[in-house]
Amino acid sequence: MTTATGYAATATPGEVERVQLDRRDLRPDDVEVRITHCGVCHTDLHALSGHAGRGDVPLVPGHEFVGEVASVGAAVTRFAVGDPVAVGNIVDSCGTCEMCAAGHENMCVEFPTLTYGGVDRIDGTPTLGGWSSAYVVREDFVYHRPAHLDPAAVAPLMCAGVTVWEPLREWGVGPGSRVGVVGLGGLGHLAVKLAVALGAEVTVLTRTADKADDARALGAHRVVVSTDDAAMAAAAGSLDLVLDCAPAEHDLGPYLRTLALDGTLVVLGFLGAGAVDAMDLLRARRRLASSGSAGRARTQELLDFCGEHGVTADVEVLPSAQVATALSRLAAGDVRYRFTLDLRDLG
Ligand SMILES: [Zn+2]
Ligand SMILES: [Zn+2]
Repeated sequence: MTTATGYAATATPGEVERVQLDRRDLRPDDVEVRITHCGVCHTDLHALSGHAGRGDVPLVPGHEFVGEVASVGAAVTRFAVGDPVAVGNIVDSCGTCEMCAAGHENMCVEFPTLTYGGVDRIDGTPTLGGWSSAYVVREDFVYHRPAHLDPAAVAPLMCAGVTVWEPLREWGVGPGSRVGVVGLGGLGHLAVKLAVALGAEVTVLTRTADKADDARALGAHRVVVSTDDAAMAAAAGSLDLVLDCAPAEHDLGPYLRTLALDGTLVVLGFLGAGAVDAMDLLRARRRLASSGSAGRARTQELLDFCGEHGVTADVEVLPSAQVATALSRLAAGDVRYRFTLDLRDLG
């Protein structure tokens, strides 16, 4: 067992405190990562607010982190000490089910082991996340990180990035594709950058006109203000794929109606129940889908693509001691576009 330092939930909803935590001794196929940066995502907010009173199960958030390899198990072949690496929101899966066999570890039938809030498949201990100085993880769920990119800006690729990359690739986005992005936060701003880098024509659908300049600065070709009925009517039937990254419950109808024949709306930001008018699907044979995280191959593919095209997240970097500021500002929607904690202050 090695000791790491990190941030764990307290009994007060939404609050974390600095703690010592144990990381397991390396198994033969384990990699120990010395963490330098970890992103702050909406999942962390939800996990912390839902954890109150559950003092029996420790919660250490953080599931998009980068660092260097600190040590490797005896059977590790793909990594050496000092390698720049990244880890996302999944750290294990069964490896044998239909989904895993097809490279969709994120949809493992036995449910993938989450980077935090999960249960280790071998020793049954709760997984503790990346808001910490070190993490021990199976080699198969560690990824090579392009060393020439700013590590703080790479970290959010591992959750926000893969979440939008998966549908962009699954629906074959490339030159000629007409892609819409709803919501310009952590997910949405990366969706715009990645879709543009893939060669698509990108439209941002935003509730307020004051985001238009930001959207264009990220590379968007067109901005439609979704609260402007005339603008939305003019945009009807104009898109092939819409990535809905808005984090709160909302009406899907207006966004479905922006789709052309056989177009697909992929819900990524708010994963809850909502009513859909089947007529919005029937007209133009539209499809409604969802997606979450990505498999191992596609995760490495994203990092390689970003290295080649120079794509990273726009981040505000805070020393980890200011994690409370990151949490309260994220809850208020006050961040462009992702907070990354610099964990090197943990020593
Ligand atoms: Zn996340
Ligand atoms: Zn599986």
